[in-house]
Amino acid sequence: MSKRILVTGGAGFIGSHLCEKLLQYDNDVICLDNFFTGSKDNIRHLLNNDHFELVRHDVIQEYSAEVDEIYNFACPASPVHYQFDAIKTIKTSVMGVINMLELAKESNAKILQASTSEVYGDPKVHPQVESYWGNVNPIGVRSCYDEGKRCAETLITDYRRQCNINTRIVRIFNTYGPNMALNDGRVVSNFIVQALQNKDITIYGDGSQTRSFCYVSDLVDGLIKMMNNEINFQGPVNLGNPVEKTILELAELIIKLSNSNSKIVFKPLPSDDPIRRKPDISLAKEKLNWQPRVDIKEGLEKTIDYFSKIINY
Ligand code: NAD
Ligand code: UDP
Repeated sequence: MSKRILVTGGAGFIGSHLCEKLLQYDNDVICLDNFFTGSKDNIRHLLNNDHFELVRHDVIQEYSAEVDEIYNFACPASPVHYQFDAIKTIKTSVMGVINMLELAKESNAKILQASTSEVYGDPKVHPQVESYWGNVNPIGVRSCYDEGKRCAETLITDYRRQCNINTRIVRIFNTYGPNMALNDGRVVSNFIVQALQNKDITIYGDGSQTRSFCYVSDLVDGLIKMMNNEINFQGPVNLGNPVEKTILELAELIIKLSNSNSKIVFKPLPSDDPIRRKPDISLAKEKLNWQPRVDIKEGLEKTIDYFSKIINY
């Protein structure tokens, strides 16, 4: 049966793929965005679809609509952008989720919150399991994002306990793919853009820090499975690809796959940059029968192909 679904942050990288997929399943989709890091280019191909509606709105302000489901994705996700106006970032997470929870209460909707591996901070448990409480600096440059997302998890859980709202929490690990902005600032898009332009590849630190990269189509499948699961599994659940790579390995792979002449240069490591990150996805496998299918080579090739079409050489 078709549903009316609100996607906040719908013009962003993940949000735009999610809107597209939800439309393919014959839903009506409202895409809400303030275009801070998102772009109309990401959803331009959906604008003529009668089942798609675009609303320019900031989640910090209240919003009212008749909806069945809410995917709350509005929030800058790249360190460069979330640190640009740290106060606004934490307001977006905290006031944004309150407004969406009030909307869920008023319209009796189910709500899925886009949380993050950053709730684990610079983790002392590896790989990260959902039961781990994390190691987060409350006053560092990443705190506006990490603590905002942690508080959003608290609010989601308290609204569930106190107001009986049907909630879902997913902790998303580093995801990449087409529709990342050219100036996004995160590692995959930075390296690909630099490689395609034969510019220096900027590794922060010595490149021994690790991340585990998930292709966006895999993530979107997991998000929809989590929202739709009929066992009423509320999470939090990790969604990510458990194949761990050092940042140096990633740089070398991207140079190779894009046939680039770029050289690697080393820049200072930003403060509080997590040293290791890898999701334990046993829970997602068990409860959602979900695991990623796209390997890093295939995912990077698709992403390189995307950037090669939009880049200025
Ligand atoms: P993104 O920056 O491309 O998308 C965020 C979207 O939210 C943009 O369209 C932006 O304009 C919009 N937005 C920001 N502030 C807003 C506000 N106040 N009101 C309305 N819209 C606002 O980033 P993304 O990678 O697509 O991330 C989407 C969500 O997923 C975020 O909540 C992020 O925290 C979460 N997440 C992403 C990753 C990842 O690896 N991509 C990992 C963990 C969590
Ligand atoms: N990074 C890097 N060069 C860049 C961008 C990022 O070496 O041009 C590093 C960054 O310091 C971090 C890792 O890559 O160790 C992932 O960074 P990103 O900003 O993509 O995400 P996050 O740190 O939030 O996982």
